[in-house]
Amino acid sequence: MNLDTIILNDMTVGQLLPWIGGAALLWFIVKLYRFLFAKKKVNLQHTVYFACGHCQWEGQISKFGTHCPKCNAAIGDLE
Ligand SMILES: [Zn+2]
Repeated sequence: MNLDTIILNDMTVGQLLPWIGGAALLWFIVKLYRFLFAKKKVNLQHTVYFACGHCQWEGQISKFGTHCPKCNAAIGDLE
């Protein structure tokens, strides 16, 4: 079998290879995306939304965080 072998109608192996490569690349990207997304989702479970009443900073911080990441004010004292 060489690259000019006709697989289906007029389609040859040589014409099919880029599609196989593209599909493999797409599969890899989806796999990678899901991996990163799943990892991010897990991380989000360990973070809580926090708005600092001292410096107005807001965002996600660690569930176990005790200080504002920007002004270092103690979180417990702000609530
Ligand atoms: Zn702050």
